[in-house]
Amino acid sequence: MILRVALPTPLHRLFDYRPPQPLHHPPAVGCRVRVPFGRREMIGIIVECAEHSDLPPKQLKSALAILDDTPVLDTPQLYLARWAASYYAFPEGEALSQALPALLRKGEEADFAHATLWRATANAALEQLSGTAVRQRELLDLLLRNPEGVSTDLLRVESIPVNLLKTLQDKGLAESFIHRPSPVHAEDRESSDLLREAPLTLNTEQQAALQQINSQPGFCTWLLEGVTGSGKTEVYLQAIQQTLTQGRQALVLVPEIGLTPQTLARFKSRFQVPVVALHSGLNDRQRLDAWLLARQGSARILIGTRSAIFTPMRHPGLIIVDEEHDLSFKQQDGFRYSARDLAVLRARQEAIPLLLGSATPSLESLHNAQAGRYRHLRLTQRAGGARPPAFELLDIRGETLSCGLSASLLTRMQQHLRQGTQVLVFLNRRGFSPSLICHQCGAVNECTRCDARMTLHRSPPHMHCHHCDRQTPIPKRCHQCGSDDLRPSGAGTERTEDFLQDHFPDTPVLRIDRDSTARKDAMKHLMEQIHTGKPCIMIGTQMLAKGHHFPKVTLVAVLDADSGLFSADFRGMEKTAQLILQVAGRAGRADHPGEVVMQTRHPDHPMLNALIRESYSAFANSELQLRHAAGLPPFTSHALIRAEATHQGRAEAFLRDIRETMEAQLNPPPGSHWSGPFPSPMEKRAGLYRAQLLIQSRQRSELHQLLRHILHFLTQHKGRNQVRWSIDVDPLDSY
Ligand code: ADP
Ligand code: ZN
Ligand code: ZN
Repeated sequence: MILRVALPTPLHRLFDYRPPQPLHHPPAVGCRVRVPFGRREMIGIIVECAEHSDLPPKQLKSALAILDDTPVLDTPQLYLARWAASYYAFPEGEALSQALPALLRKGEEADFAHATLWRATANAALEQLSGTAVRQRELLDLLLRNPEGVSTDLLRVESIPVNLLKTLQDKGLAESFIHRPSPVHAEDRESSDLLREAPLTLNTEQQAALQQINSQPGFCTWLLEGVTGSGKTEVYLQAIQQTLTQGRQALVLVPEIGLTPQTLARFKSRFQVPVVALHSGLNDRQRLDAWLLARQGSARILIGTRSAIFTPMRHPGLIIVDEEHDLSFKQQDGFRYSARDLAVLRARQEAIPLLLGSATPSLESLHNAQAGRYRHLRLTQRAGGARPPAFELLDIRGETLSCGLSASLLTRMQQHLRQGTQVLVFLNRRGFSPSLICHQCGAVNECTRCDARMTLHRSPPHMHCHHCDRQTPIPKRCHQCGSDDLRPSGAGTERTEDFLQDHFPDTPVLRIDRDSTARKDAMKHLMEQIHTGKPCIMIGTQMLAKGHHFPKVTLVAVLDADSGLFSADFRGMEKTAQLILQVAGRAGRADHPGEVVMQTRHPDHPMLNALIRESYSAFANSELQLRHAAGLPPFTSHALIRAEATHQGRAEAFLRDIRETMEAQLNPPPGSHWSGPFPSPMEKRAGLYRAQLLIQSRQRSELHQLLRHILHFLTQHKGRNQVRWSIDVDPLDSY
């Protein structure tokens, strides 16, 4: 018997081993196995048990140990991860490894944390020890007072020698036992009632959506398009309720910064069942515990970001992807999978419904709905009677701006603050100023490792490259002419915060961006201040756009609505529209009608107008028509081959060679064509020169056929050690 093993190496292949000892039954696929690999040991996943190997028997090594009785990747999980590896052209062993919690990758037992604890035996009493055995009495006393068990760590804290335990054990006074604390609350486990609070009475649209979802027990992908505040979350909650009633589990995926304590609290306050969150704040142990709870079925609701799509479920019932348009569902390096797209595959595999929700669905999903692959549900009204915000384009041509704000906007802010409400200012640029310019010669402070400017930061003062993270002191003199007349040009959130605080001295100004929230609990404190409801101005980046509800905000000001209108990225328009609407959605919730003011120098721009006069759907439909005419995704499929090297031109030459060789060797399928290689939009980044080659296909299958050849060729290419290459299937970041 041969074990065919996927190992976490960059090699695109499986590895054959003999079993560690003769086995009566083949081991289950999906179990971990420890094997020798070169001079090291590695942990891999058994993906097949075969009769024969192509390797000559002499070269076949024996595995060292099979680590599991039950597979850590059950059949649907293994299928999902293998499919993803193949689809995203990523080495299978690494993909399977990434689908597991870190501790399992390292060989930890797939079981809850356990500890050996000590307790007194049933008949033990202090009188059984002589009065002179002071320390023994002290220890026994401690054990008697802690019948639930004492750890050796506690003894060390209490300065009691650990070897005394052995002494007491020999006298029949103490015994050890294995303690496995269950991370699930007893109250949650035992309750027969699922609900902690009554569900809201749904409005007609919500009711219709829920009825449809509940009427389809098997696989079906629903696209729930509902304006912000339309009560999508309430629909999720009630769909989950039905899932729980059937004794099944629900998996909820949220964007990276969408998993706020507020979000979690909403699920926990509704349901009296174990809700487990998988977020970046967990340590490896907590993550494994959460994974185990999901696998054994006791975690009934799982909420997590992207990687949670690989969480096993004993009784899967429903998958929800909230804010499905969010780019964070696509991993941007290494294993470049889209958790949203894998959710479709997983739901189909498990024969359960999938609910994709957004106020601003991705054009991909809208296209799938129009093509009949997804079923479209709409919520057009705000729930609970809140009115939608009124949009206004503020023409700032010819206006003098102070730190990005026009005089009329400042007046408007003043009006809102006077009436006692809050104002949100959106500027998607952190730092003090995006550039530091020499007033004498015009030289700009640039990053030496990137084709990019360094951003000036004031708190703490330094220059920061947002692309490679390089940080330097603020220069005193121009690096070109030596002049000391260096001036910041343009405003980021820090500078605008300073300005607003000067302009509105009596109103608190709260900055919310990656820098101001880096410290632990900083975000919590900011949110507490906002939720007092007192007038304040929030100035922030896209961090403000997701997850948080600000019921007291009545004015949202978008300082630069034009920033994405003319980008080279064909998705620039879509991203801008989504961001604007997401930010706008923060205004006018609850009973305060809201206003959204967008500063623009292009007040006639058709996109901005479609967005504010009609709807996101109107915008999306015209955008889809443009994409169709241009043969762009979602009407074609893209894969991007990226390469980077230390020398300029090397990455591009490598890719050119790939293209030329492939063209000479293959008849490209008629619906596919190449574009490039070109230098990447930012050619130099973090000291490396980057280039890219784009493949476009009308048929996804053609694209993958080509990719298989290319992959084979890339892994054989003689130049492969001088460049770092990667394949990105369905790329999303600008290219
Ligand atoms: P979304 O997820 O679409 O942004 P939410 O589910 O957060 O919307 O709902 C917005 C607000 O409306 C919340 O405060 C919620 O409690 C309230 N709400 C939702 N559905 C109803 C309903 N049927 N009746 C009354 N209030 C509702
Ligand atoms: Zn100069
Ligand atoms: Zn840099």
